[in-house]
Amino acid sequence: MLTMSENKEISTSLISIAKFCAEKNLVPATSGNFSARINSEKILITQSGKDKGKLTSKDLMEIDYSGKALNPSEKPSAETLLHTQIYSIFSEANFISHFHSSSSAVLSKVLLKKGINEVKLNDFELLKALSGVSTHEHTEIIPIFANDQDIARLASKILNTLKEASSSNKTHAYILAGHGLYTWGKTKAEAIRHVDAINTLIESYILELQLS
Ligand SMILES: [Zn+2]
Repeated sequence: MLTMSENKEISTSLISIAKFCAEKNLVPATSGNFSARINSEKILITQSGKDKGKLTSKDLMEIDYSGKALNPSEKPSAETLLHTQIYSIFSEANFISHFHSSSSAVLSKVLLKKGINEVKLNDFELLKALSGVSTHEHTEIIPIFANDQDIARLASKILNTLKEASSSNKTHAYILAGHGLYTWGKTKAEAIRHVDAINTLIESYILELQLS
């Protein structure tokens, strides 16, 4: 059982991760969703349709690991199952950010059309911002999945790839094509660092493709 101040700290951290993304223009038009692991039974997640730059604790709600709202009058994000899936697979993940950056949406669309289902990043110094990575020689694999409005079906397509990725430390994010990115972290600082690094790495990758 968490104390009131520990609960408050989790909610304040979650709000500041969302605000960081809003300030970077990664969650336009109330898009995106954010969550935090409270304990082995509960997750705190943003309610659907809220401006992620102006969240207060009233815009957050608790769900269980099956994605069900603990307070039935509250409506969780449509993508809740994708959050619970990440927490179940990555035991170190305590915060998840999902944002709709145009760079990830466009790149994934273009690659998937060519039959390429991952972004392979290497030889960037910024890779060292990812947890457990100590050299630019690291190869980061960001899987791409076709977007789907049926979230249960989408989660089942993602499952095996993420399970395999969880033992390799090569995957700190994945992309839904034409949609956006999911990334996670152990602490608030790590979650923000991963958003910032992955977003910049994707932009650098696009620039590299354009120039080469
Ligand atoms: Zn989304």
